[in-house]
Amino acid sequence: MRPARIFDYNVTVINLPGDAKIVIIGGGVMGLITAWECASRGETDIVILEMRSLLGAGATQKAAGGVRAQFTTAANVGMSKYSQDFYRRRFTPEINPDFQYLEYGYLFVARSEEKLKALDNSMALQKKLGADAVRHITADEIKEILPDFNIDDVQGGNFSPEDGVVDPGDIVNGLDISIRRMGVQIFTDCEVTGIESKSNFNFVVNTGHGNINAQKILVATGSWSGEFMEKCGVNVPVEPYRRTLYISGPLPWFPKKAPFTFDVCTGTHFRPESGGIIFLKINPDEIPGHNEEPDWDFLENIIPDLIHIMPRLEEAAVIDAWAGPYAMTPDHSAILGKIPDSPSGVGKGMYIATGFSGHGLMHSPAVGCAMSELLLDGVTSTLDISAFKLERFDTGVLIHETAAF
Ligand SMILES: Cc1cc2nc3c(=O)[nH]c(=O)nc-3n(C[C@H](O)[C@H](O)[C@H](O)COP(=O)(O)OP(=O)(O)OC[C@H]3O[C@@H](n4cnc5c(N)ncnc54)[C@H](O)[C@@H]3O)c2cc1C
Repeated sequence: MRPARIFDYNVTVINLPGDAKIVIIGGGVMGLITAWECASRGETDIVILEMRSLLGAGATQKAAGGVRAQFTTAANVGMSKYSQDFYRRRFTPEINPDFQYLEYGYLFVARSEEKLKALDNSMALQKKLGADAVRHITADEIKEILPDFNIDDVQGGNFSPEDGVVDPGDIVNGLDISIRRMGVQIFTDCEVTGIESKSNFNFVVNTGHGNINAQKILVATGSWSGEFMEKCGVNVPVEPYRRTLYISGPLPWFPKKAPFTFDVCTGTHFRPESGGIIFLKINPDEIPGHNEEPDWDFLENIIPDLIHIMPRLEEAAVIDAWAGPYAMTPDHSAILGKIPDSPSGVGKGMYIATGFSGHGLMHSPAVGCAMSELLLDGVTSTLDISAFKLERFDTGVLIHETAAF
């Protein structure tokens, strides 16, 4: 006789609660940090629903970890200033004792007069908004930081020693443990398939494991937000674009504390990692979609840039790569705030934080603060996020961020 099966590994049993004050859809950094802010203020009747098996398995855990205030618009510099301060002073004591904000700096290098002028203009804006550490840097100074840098055609650049790098794993782990301790319930392998609006501020969230009644909803579905909100009858202009991050083998001569370095003429950027470097570049021919296979063919477009920037990188072996989704918006800036009311009833009590266009990890502390205030108080009091509202795509008052890579 065939023995009875004790475990069936193909079946995940999920016992969802019948209701929650706040349901957060998406267990990436935005969902987690917003839950942390709410729970820290005493609101723990929160359920996070994540469709993948691991938290952060969308874009968050794939991030290169760069944190910078060097943006070209006031809205994004403001988000960075708040977030850098949070990473510098609060994340370690309040969330994860192992977390580190490594302030190795960000270096933007221009190889044309035109690009240098653009860097000058953005530096003026950054300084005006309190990002005082950003300064002009000469080709010779770049050589002091990175002795193997090819400065033959370098016109100069911008450098901020207060920018740096964080580890997405430390962020996700810290938030996961901290919010579970405070009583937030997290369910993975649990995709939200629809939302029904019962009446004002009252929703039914549908999943394959049952429904949850919710008073308020935060949509934090990253690069899936466009498709997800379409099902709810709301147009959210977010498209998924694959980005591949390549990893070199050991490079003993490469400075371990080198800044995250951007060649603004080609868009190629790199930083030290695990004894070698990691490097990226936007593929302008990438088509929107949820392809998360590394793009090995595109490597041949980056190698010549890298060798021009630093000829000694010819010695580097490329040993690995991973790819993840960028959630791109038309003006390369986030969508934050209340979802406008719609005739179907969707909107009332529904909030969204999405479309981070490649700079979400660095801005997550500011997003968590603002979204928790909206969820709990109905208004923001710490940060003005009105520039990021969804309605800007109808009014045409866009942000136009050009420092998105
Ligand atoms: C290769 C790469 C490098 C990057 N480098 C940097 C960097 O250096 N600095 C930086 O600041 N940012 C970087 N980013 C961007 C950063 O990772 C994102 O902006 C940030 O993680 C966005 O967080 P999120 O929570 O909005 O999205 P995600 O982390 O994608 O989380 C959204 C979650 O929602 C879940 N979900 C979607 N639909 C549903 C549904 N219907 N039901 C339930 N769950 C659902 C998804 O599974 C996903 O886990 C990088 C991204 C990539 C891909």
